[in-house]
Amino acid sequence: NTQIYIGKKKDIALIAHDNEKPKLIEWCKENYDILKKHNLYGTGTTARLIADKGLTIKGYNSGPLGGDQQIGAKIVEGVINFVVFFSDPLTAQPHDPDVKALMRISQVYDIPMAVSKATAEFYDSL
Ligand code: PGA
Repeated sequence: NTQIYIGKKKDIALIAHDNEKPKLIEWCKENYDILKKHNLYGTGTTARLIADKGLTIKGYNSGPLGGDQQIGAKIVEGVINFVVFFSDPLTAQPHDPDVKALMRISQVYDIPMAVSKATAEFYDSL
């Protein structure tokens, strides 16, 4: 049974590729009051930038150094229940297999994933 109960306080993973980081930071600022009520997790550089904005976030390794896989493992463990992943649609990533793996494992566990500002804004019921 892969059903995961999503409580009021959610565990949210936040990841953005370099070109998309400004958009994610902007989204985090816009949603600061909502995000501060939840447990946040992020890949290394993304997490550091979000922490700089005053949000508490647990940082893992940088994406190319296995951070996406660490986030994926937390999904498998049932910890994460929402992923905001602003991937770069225009630039090849050296860790593309890891990016795909994270998307795949989110589907396997039926975890909602927002891949852009527009999709993230659809999840306004956090
Ligand atoms: P970063 O990793 O937050 O350390 O930049 C994100 C990624 O490239 O997946």
